[in-house]
Amino acid sequence: MTASTLSAIDSSITRAARLAGRQRGDVTLIAVSKTQPPEAIEPLLAAGQRDFGENRVQEAAAKWPALREAYPDVTLHLIGQLQSNKADEAVALFDVIHVVDRPSLVTALARAMEKAGRRPDCFVQINIGDEEQKGGCAIAELPALLAAARDAGLPVVGLMCLPPADLAPAPYFALLAKLAREQGLAGLSMGMSADYETAVTIGATHVRVGSALFGPRA
Ligand SMILES: *Cc1c(COP(=O)(O)O)cnc(C)c1O
Repeated sequence: MTASTLSAIDSSITRAARLAGRQRGDVTLIAVSKTQPPEAIEPLLAAGQRDFGENRVQEAAAKWPALREAYPDVTLHLIGQLQSNKADEAVALFDVIHVVDRPSLVTALARAMEKAGRRPDCFVQINIGDEEQKGGCAIAELPALLAAARDAGLPVVGLMCLPPADLAPAPYFALLAKLAREQGLAGLSMGMSADYETAVTIGATHVRVGSALFGPRA
């Protein structure tokens, strides 16, 4: 990755935001650094990038404490499926958790937050394309899961989705935006390398961009 890649993506976000009557500051660019070694992450940090996304607690725990010594103002986002038995570690390490998708995880996270005295912002992940193999809460189960999360004291700030891989994403982004509106949630975590500009025009507040920043993953 080069500083110019980062600035090109930044400009694309600005352009897409303006098209939709929004501003660059309405959108957080999360650099998805899963599988990337610290040497690949450091140039982004040096260029001023501060929001990063990781898929796995173990990998993040191995990489980020050292990087954070040098850059304490980093915001770390968990964007990959979380097992309940890793809730303590996730709460200790991450600032934002995008993958709350079932009652058992709500319970585990609430307990972990209580213990740690630390409350990372949470997004509820929706299985927006109703795909069997994918994580995420079914649309019909969203109201109950949100109620449980709020009862348990999780700070839920928005919804997150990963649309089906081989279909146009815009209708799924629009559906996620509608669900968030209905539930009074401001945050929308949607859009990746291939479709982040589309997501921004539809209201994304957080885009998760990996390969467009770092190049293809090994
Ligand atoms: C890997 C990943 C991304 C980034 O994907 P790219 O296509 O490399 O931008 C975004 N969101 C989630 C949940 C991911 O797992």
